[in-house]
Amino acid sequence: MGYQHCIDRDRCKGCGLCVNVCPKKVLEMSKEVNTRGYFPAYQARPEDCIYCTLCCIMCPDVAITVIKTEQRVETAPETVAQK
Ligand code: SF4
Ligand code: SF4
Repeated sequence: MGYQHCIDRDRCKGCGLCVNVCPKKVLEMSKEVNTRGYFPAYQARPEDCIYCTLCCIMCPDVAITVIKTEQRVETAPETVAQK
């Protein structure tokens, strides 16, 4: 059993709340805009994530989820913002 941390980059409005709340400094803001014209958060250091879900709780746009998986998966390329 593992966990997968996903950010829906097109739901993100770039407020930065998740970046500030993360105790492990996993998240940063992308330098590329999403389809809504915002700079979305992305997992800069996914290997440091402890899946505490603080970022999910903090996000006002419900853009972040932590999903239980059969195997540990670090990132979901189709939903994770790139640098
Ligand atoms: S689940 Fe916790 S450790 Fe992982 S990115 Fe979110 S706040 Fe950081
Ligand atoms: S808290 Fe949500 S909306 Fe704000 S930057 Fe993070 S993912 Fe984007």
